[in-house]
Amino acid sequence: MAELGIRLNQLKHRARRGSSEKVLFLVPPNNKCSGPLYEIVFMLETWARREGIRDRLDITYSTYEGTFIRAFGPRLHEVVTEQFGERGIHGHTNEVVTDVLGDAVRYSNGTVRDFDLLISFPPYIAAVPYPGLSADDRGFLKTQLESRQVIGCEDIYAPGDGGDFPVKQAFLAFLQADAVAEHISMKFGDSKFRHPFDPVSMCMMEMFDTATFAQVPLRLTGEPDRPVEVRPDAGEDYKVGVSPLWRLGKKLLGMYLPMRFNAGEPFHAGAGWQLMDVGLKGMSGILAD
Ligand SMILES: Cc1cc2nc3c(=O)[nH]c(=O)nc-3n(C[C@H](O)[C@H](O)[C@H](O)COP(=O)(O)OP(=O)(O)OC[C@H]3O[C@@H](n4cnc5c(N)ncnc54)[C@H](O)[C@@H]3O)c2cc1C
Repeated sequence: MAELGIRLNQLKHRARRGSSEKVLFLVPPNNKCSGPLYEIVFMLETWARREGIRDRLDITYSTYEGTFIRAFGPRLHEVVTEQFGERGIHGHTNEVVTDVLGDAVRYSNGTVRDFDLLISFPPYIAAVPYPGLSADDRGFLKTQLESRQVIGCEDIYAPGDGGDFPVKQAFLAFLQADAVAEHISMKFGDSKFRHPFDPVSMCMMEMFDTATFAQVPLRLTGEPDRPVEVRPDAGEDYKVGVSPLWRLGKKLLGMYLPMRFNAGEPFHAGAGWQLMDVGLKGMSGILAD
């Protein structure tokens, strides 16, 4: 990310000198959680307008996904399509990269797209191998969905990105950590396992001028190419909303979270969280549907 910041500054200086620049965003196959790249393209577009260089930039977003942010379902696709249209970003789905050349990307359908700056999000794999523990094809530890116990090793838990839940998100990592803590404490007392991991994702996509909030109840599909989907019975629990006020929500979370961690306290606990929770529910009742 630091390198990207340097490249964007270089691009800004070239654009200010009058050069036209092509920025190409690329989501390659096997990326099962592409959200952050969408966040970056929207932030880049707002930044370029503020820096007075938007008219020098051609911004294209190309993904292998059949719909934008596929894991989060049709409503996110609608929001992204609308935002791309309003912001003059050229969006393309179903584009499967085959080669990245020095200054162009080639796709399986024969399309070739040139770029001055390529911003991609590689198909990620586990950073740390754990020989002897059961792992999926990308090296993430295979777990029981609800308790996050590693399959075959019940005393080992894998909450967060190291486990095999396909959507990698801090919010989900917190929910998993809560489930793990409760499961462990159950072993030492008579408390029940009341809060198994329930994958309801909540995210706020920063765009600098506005932000998109999404609450997405997910379920595993068992299909390697499309491992998660929005629960068909999600109903009103599947919420999406776009508003500058969500930026405030994100900033509050950004202050609350380090405060809790620095105090050695968990995220979802205490009076602070109850207040945040009420605030988030209130905001999502008004600003999302
Ligand atoms: C660009 C981007 C934007 C994102 N935006 C959001 C967002 O808006 N909201 C959201 O909910 N999520 C977001 N995420 C996802 C979120 O960052 C991750 O899901 C979350 O950090 C996972 O937490 P974790 O504790 O499981 O793993 P990590 O945060 O990766 O923590 C693992 C830690 O272990 C350390 N480590 C590794 N190996 C060893 C070792 N051998 N010994 C000791 N330490 C070790 C690592 O250095 C690291 O600090 C984003 C991710 C990216 C890349």
